[in-house]
Amino acid sequence: MPPSNQPAALHKGGQSRLAFVIDSSFAFPSLSVNPANFDFHCHSVISDGLLPPAVVAGRAAANGVDLWALTDHDDLGGLVEARAAADELGMDFVNGVEISIEWKSIPIHIVGLGFDAAHPALCGGLESLRQGRIERARRMGEALAAIGIPGVFEGALAYATNPSLISRAHFARYMVSIGIARDLPGIFQHYLTPGKPGYVDHRWVTLGDAIGWIKAAGGVAVVAHPGRYKAMSNGDQRRFLDDFKDLGGQGIEVTCGSHSPDHVLHFARLARHYAFHASRGSDFHGPEESYVDLGKLPPLPEDLKPVWRLLR
Ligand code: AMP
Ligand code: MN
Ligand code: MN
Ligand code: MN
Repeated sequence: MPPSNQPAALHKGGQSRLAFVIDSSFAFPSLSVNPANFDFHCHSVISDGLLPPAVVAGRAAANGVDLWALTDHDDLGGLVEARAAADELGMDFVNGVEISIEWKSIPIHIVGLGFDAAHPALCGGLESLRQGRIERARRMGEALAAIGIPGVFEGALAYATNPSLISRAHFARYMVSIGIARDLPGIFQHYLTPGKPGYVDHRWVTLGDAIGWIKAAGGVAVVAHPGRYKAMSNGDQRRFLDDFKDLGGQGIEVTCGSHSPDHVLHFARLARHYAFHASRGSDFHGPEESYVDLGKLPPLPEDLKPVWRLLR
């Protein structure tokens, strides 16, 4: 069977629970149980998380997660290890990724779930997306050197296990280590956000690219942490969600690590309005860095359709 036929979506106890495969199409195996605690957003050292995929898996299971996705930024390199660890722990696993896009020049993240991780369109698209990161990081280093903070590119690189995924989080960790600010939020606020000296403009991929790759690989596209896009007016938010839906997007994070109770109410209303399925994800990066631990978010509002239903 060619790789694109292999459903890498859901899997438990070392056995693929594939329901059926039709011709060359990608089909989802069925879930045997309704998960009580799903977490579909977190990171490992493959992107800007602090723990290896298997350790993230162990933490998820220890925290009671029964259906889990690893969603590293722009890279699928942790999925094999994550799935194997989840199998060992008897925890259901879904392939995941968090894709960096821009829409009307606003950087936005799109989570992909339940896709075939060998699909050439998705793999090739992510490869092209990763290629820009080192060059962007060099320019960030130059911008910081110009305000009297030299060596930050090299310092940040030493914090990145996967250099092609060097991110602002690695810059922030290094800058905290040399005493530029006390914590990561302080570094982001003063140096690494739009208008601040270490922030450089960058071309990510389009919304259509990300949704197209995810769908081509048989997956489901979800808007990540919609409450975090401060540069978006309410009108932009509606236009963005219109575009997302028109392009085939199906889900939105309603409960997530960066959402306040008001955000949850607001995005639950939008999920109903657009008939989106709702997702829940901690966005866990590491023990000292995340507001919410794996599996520790409140449940979704009960009337919403949970996104895992699209994966069965
Ligand atoms: P990048 O993909 O290189 O633009 O980096 C974005 C990453 O930086 C996010 O995925 C978060 O992990 C981290 N990040 C962004 N904003 C903040 C913030 N205000 N405080 C802490 N971490 C942040
Ligand atoms: Mn991150
Ligand atoms: Mn994100
Ligand atoms: Mn994330």
